Amino acid sequence: MSDTEKRIQYKKEWYNNKSDEWKLELSNKKKKYYLDNRERLHENGKEKITCACGAEVSKWSMIRHIKTEKHKKNMISLPNENKDDIILI
Ligand SMILES: [Zn+2]
Repeated sequence: MSDTEKRIQYKKEWYNNKSDEWKLELSNKKKKYYLDNRERLHENGKEKITCACGAEVSKWSMIRHIKTEKHKKNMISLPNENKDDIILI
């Protein structure tokens, strides 16, 4: 078993040992955080940023955009001096 697997296993056991009330409270906290911050999270995600390839994308589609053919093609055709700005994820 790898270290990562051990850690996951440990976390699972740790979680399972907790009481049902604790689990319920945790999920309520998560829900509350999301509801309290929903507007802000969505606004942040909608913000447009310019990718290193020159395309304008919203923050939350950035991860998906980087995997697109359009992005890859644009990156290949970029002059070398601009390639320092490449965002690596
Ligand atoms: Zn791009």
